[in-house]
Amino acid sequence: MSASPLPLSLPLIHGLTHAQLTEICRELDQPAYRARQIWKWLYHRFAADWSEMKNLPLGLRQALAHRLSLASAAVTRSQSEAGVGTTTKWLIALADGDWVEEVLIPARGRTTLCVSSQVGCKFNCAFCASGKAGFRRNLETGEIVGLVVVAARNLGAIPSNLVFMGMGEPLDNYDAVLAAVRIINDAEGLSLGARRITISTCGIIPGIQRLAQEGLQVELSISLHASDDALRSRLLPVNRKYPLGDLLEACRIYAEQTGRLITFEYTLIQGVNDSPEQARELARILRPIHARVNLIPLSTVAEFEGRAPPAPVVREFLNILERARINATLRISKGGGVDAACGQLRRRHESDLKL
Ligand code: SAH
Repeated sequence: MSASPLPLSLPLIHGLTHAQLTEICRELDQPAYRARQIWKWLYHRFAADWSEMKNLPLGLRQALAHRLSLASAAVTRSQSEAGVGTTTKWLIALADGDWVEEVLIPARGRTTLCVSSQVGCKFNCAFCASGKAGFRRNLETGEIVGLVVVAARNLGAIPSNLVFMGMGEPLDNYDAVLAAVRIINDAEGLSLGARRITISTCGIIPGIQRLAQEGLQVELSISLHASDDALRSRLLPVNRKYPLGDLLEACRIYAEQTGRLITFEYTLIQGVNDSPEQARELARILRPIHARVNLIPLSTVAEFEGRAPPAPVVREFLNILERARINATLRISKGGGVDAACGQLRRRHESDLKL
């Protein structure tokens, strides 16, 4: 008789809720406080190995190691811009040999962690490098939580803000992302406030509608980039499936149902979407919505020929929005020096790392 085969991969402990971990501890005949102890090792001490969990009996550590994996994600390379408090990009190895990147951006007293939700991306926006290599797979809940934990371990503290603006489309991996948000939000764990977590989408309407029902205070950010359908479909092919009018209506309802302000991201590209008429049209279409606009000058990527407009054009675009009483800010994309600016994340390291 052959021995029962070992499972190829164990479930990730970082993908469990506190309640699920408590249930596993109960199955292992452990007292109720054990789950709390483990939770602290995971989310207060950012433990990377079972052997660190010194206040757990050895037998329990072994039993856990047979059932669950602690290795959601691991930093394999880090790149920082020169200077103090500057952007750092980490290349993260996943258990199956896939890779994602995450970026830590310190600014104005915050540390914002930019995480991925998928390996690659399906949506192929014209100026975003992430989509160019195609789609590989969704990240699991435990991998997404693991991204925050490895960042916290390296930083020695939990980042103050989290944005799903790395690789992938969070609302195309809805269940895993939302489950991760709830674990990251858990008051006894990482306790990152929902208002400090931003989900950014290229405009997946059913996801926006579901999100409105979650009762979570997360920030929603829409990658808009154009104020008419023809241009938006050219820049974001997803617009053919979810056109502008329908998207804006879904946003208006979302803002109404949740009472939350929606941020619209608008990447400025010289000669493409930066004219005064386009600014006025943007103000017009956003007027019915409780909205704020974030203007981001394009960061250059090899796969797209466009470039950012000159500073006076950017300023004029901002002025037009402000004069139209649209709440608008200019965001300067950081991390260009380490290929970690908006839209630059791409699994370009794959070949040399597999050597
Ligand atoms: N799929 C999600 C999140 C990933 S992209 C989304 O579409 O929102 C995060 C943000 O970076 C989006 O607003 C995206 O449009 C923007 N972006 C992508 N490439 C960029 C580039 N080259 N320059 C500036 N912003 C870019």
